[in-house]
Amino acid sequence: MNRRDFSLRLAGAVGALSLGNTRLGASARDGASRQGSAALRVNGDRINQHLAALSEFGKNPYGGVSRVAYSDFDRKGREFVMGLMREASLDVRIDTAGNILGSRPGSSAALKPILFGSHIDSVPDGGNYDGDVGVLSAIEVARTLKERGVTTRHPIEVVIFQNEEGGTIGSRGMAGHLADKDLDLVAKSGKSLRDGINFLGGDTTKLAAAARKKGDYAAYVELHIEQGGTLDAEGLNIGVVEGIVGIGWWDVIVDGFGNHAGTTPMDKRRDALLAAAKYVQMVNRVVTSEPGRQVGTVGRIQASPGAPNVIPGQVLASLEIRDLDQAKIVRLARKVMDEATKIGAENGTTFTFKETYLSTPAMMDHGVQKVIESSAKALGMTTKHLPSGAGHDAQYMAELAPTGMIFCPSQGGISHSPKEFTKPGDVINGANVLLQTILALDAA
Ligand SMILES: [Zn+2]
Repeated sequence: MNRRDFSLRLAGAVGALSLGNTRLGASARDGASRQGSAALRVNGDRINQHLAALSEFGKNPYGGVSRVAYSDFDRKGREFVMGLMREASLDVRIDTAGNILGSRPGSSAALKPILFGSHIDSVPDGGNYDGDVGVLSAIEVARTLKERGVTTRHPIEVVIFQNEEGGTIGSRGMAGHLADKDLDLVAKSGKSLRDGINFLGGDTTKLAAAARKKGDYAAYVELHIEQGGTLDAEGLNIGVVEGIVGIGWWDVIVDGFGNHAGTTPMDKRRDALLAAAKYVQMVNRVVTSEPGRQVGTVGRIQASPGAPNVIPGQVLASLEIRDLDQAKIVRLARKVMDEATKIGAENGTTFTFKETYLSTPAMMDHGVQKVIESSAKALGMTTKHLPSGAGHDAQYMAELAPTGMIFCPSQGGISHSPKEFTKPGDVINGANVLLQTILALDAA
């Protein structure tokens, strides 16, 4: 599908909806369906009740959940949400990669489904909003359509991806990027991906059957908490995601010379940790040396031998850079490497960089971004376009279909923590934007 197909006007879009058993008079059906659809709202209390109910599965003593993928809590939580999907009259199945799909037919058999959803697995000691808000809102959207008798033109499909937190495993499977050899990796639950997927009802002997092709879906939309503090700090309602940043990771080894800390004069030392300390400061300087929203981090420093009376002979460090522009990630990394060489020359140490991971940024579709923005504006909400610094299943769905992400505020920008919190009103706002976005995309 041409990405521009989605550059539509909300008002016109909503007018094309068919209202199955509209309560409005047939004499004014056209105008009525336009107004009727634009006036549709989710049952916000119900979403927040479901959020509270889901947070019982894997509840931890700190107020959050530990519902890591492939655990018993994960499977029980999935059973709970599958029950909610059936209440919404969705036809529920589990694909061979272990993702849950709930579908509802549309009025036009020729049109491809619109897919929307998120995930319900958590990090260890995680919170009650990451993923859950998107899943429960997606189910609520389907339930609202059912209760209000609205038949969309496109079929709709609600998806709950498995094991998002362990490396977006389910969406990788759906995008055809999960190979049999990957399945021996051991997840946080202690199960291998293979055992975990089968534990959830998938079938790893037929993994390829879960893979979709580009064009199999008309669009993918995901509502998620921001996991950053921008919307909360600026008092905004909705984030329109421009793209999901690419990530570069390097292992960094600093080699010096381990020697006696008492007998080696200061000017004769080849101190790997001293060089690493300068390296940490330099990374910060290089990354902030040009305008933009790129971020760079040294998250690991391990000095060896690690004794108070020995000059560190070697340090294992790291480099991580994230941005929406992969060329910028690579350019900044090169600059860091050049500067590291200079630091090494100053005290007789050497830096070695080994690239371990480089992901491509996933840009969100411009047309879908416009629909999200106009849907939010029509609901009287404030919006901001922003990148996602965190990875999401949407980055793999962007390979298959025009994709968009809606962010709702995350209080204090806290996530992956029991302290993660999104106000009930912000959850409801996000769900209503999701509803109106799906309706507008459907009419495109
Ligand atoms: Zn998430």
